[in-house]
Amino acid sequence: MKFSNSITSVSPSVTLEFNQKALEMLSKGEDVVKLTAGEPDFPTPKPIIEAAVEAMREGKTKYTNASGIPLLREKISEKLRVENHLNYSPDEIIVTNGGKQALYNTLSAILNPGDEVILFAPAWVSYGAQVKMCGGIPIFVGTKMEDDFLPKIKDIEKAISPRTRAMIINSPNNPTGTMYPESLLTELANLAKSQDIFVISDEVYEKLSFDEKHFSIASIEGMKDRAAVINAFSKAYAMTGWRIGYVAAPHSLAKQIAKIQSHLSSNVNTMTQYAAVKAFGVDISEMLEEFIKRREYVETRLKKIGVPFSHPKGAFYFFIDIRDYLTETYPDSLSFAIALLEKAKVGMIPGSAFNAEGFIRLSYASSIETLKKGLDRFEGFLKKSD
Ligand code: PLP
Repeated sequence: MKFSNSITSVSPSVTLEFNQKALEMLSKGEDVVKLTAGEPDFPTPKPIIEAAVEAMREGKTKYTNASGIPLLREKISEKLRVENHLNYSPDEIIVTNGGKQALYNTLSAILNPGDEVILFAPAWVSYGAQVKMCGGIPIFVGTKMEDDFLPKIKDIEKAISPRTRAMIINSPNNPTGTMYPESLLTELANLAKSQDIFVISDEVYEKLSFDEKHFSIASIEGMKDRAAVINAFSKAYAMTGWRIGYVAAPHSLAKQIAKIQSHLSSNVNTMTQYAAVKAFGVDISEMLEEFIKRREYVETRLKKIGVPFSHPKGAFYFFIDIRDYLTETYPDSLSFAIALLEKAKVGMIPGSAFNAEGFIRLSYASSIETLKKGLDRFEGFLKKSD
């Protein structure tokens, strides 16, 4: 059978596959420590759940405006103004099925076949896949652990071609936890303006900014017209399964994205939208404090183990350098991660999934007890691989 070239060029999400593999081992009764997850292990806060139940009881179970209910878009507009110094009217906001669909809708609205999109590696697994699915070409610009995984302007300049259409920025970053300082974002904004490049700013980990205040590149003067902001409720409010996010974009682009949303999936399910309205009033400080404690615990352990990494300022991941541990038996991060899972029963995601060979991603969205068990086994596994 013949398939679409843009779809056959894409592999399934390695993070979801690894997570699935670990889950299958667990369901067979194997004692697996799963440090793969890209989701908070906390339950969705009760007021959010209650708001969804109430919405259903009140009969809010029908189609809504495909771009989202006005109340939610007003709340998002207010949040962006107050917290991020961004001015988007409610009709410049489209509510989507998670940050993932916000990103996909945006890429499909701006890309023509052969357009290039600059991605900074390590890059979240779905960026390259989505660019390809929209007919574009991902161009990876590498970053180094020694530079805290921050890109260098001169490397980006080298990657720019007449076909460059956009770049995707992700701060706080998955998988590295890096946060882009305002000074770098200003340089990136200047580059985008001078080279006529569109910027997609993926801010889904915004609330998980631990060491610095989050700053949106779209708030820099002159950037609103050449940027789209992607955000979601998934990571901030432990709502990964609800599937709700949004994109804020200048009016002309928002209109195109709204068309895509209306033809692709219509509105995000109605009760989830009402639940999300409630999320804005929920206090997540306890969850954040717990994440900070876990980060400290993992950081102390990794330092003791002596394996290199760069301090993650946000999100809930450590991107660990395993280059010294790659041997003939485990020559790359994929074979290393498979052996770690099968032999030591610890699940982590190989760096190759993020276009960064020689690393492995640990998610600390697990209890300290689980992290301790996982790190004890990881330490033992590294000793054996020495
Ligand atoms: N962007 C990044 C960097 C992510 O890590 C994720 C989820 O893992 C998403 C976007 C998508 O989030 P959502 O679950 O809201 O679709």
